[in-house]
Amino acid sequence: MPHIRADRDVCIGAGQCVLTAPDLFDSDDEGLVTLLDAHPDPSRLGDLREAVELCPSGALRLAEADERDEADEP
Ligand code: SF4
Repeated sequence: MPHIRADRDVCIGAGQCVLTAPDLFDSDDEGLVTLLDAHPDPSRLGDLREAVELCPSGALRLAEADERDEADEP
């Protein structure tokens, strides 16, 4: 299963990710990205790749397989 991560310290609130996949990304009151689903269905890989590509700040990271990062997982 893919795993998407968003670094809110890097996000500049351009909103490209939200436009690309509004069911996976949202923006908060400050305009910064929030993830609605960090482990989307593999069928969404196309949208995820596009969001990562379009993000102007490099805030999004996509692991296409399930590479669990223990520091990142509760
Ligand atoms: S596209 Fe990148 S910079 Fe823009 S809101 Fe999404 S994560 Fe932030």
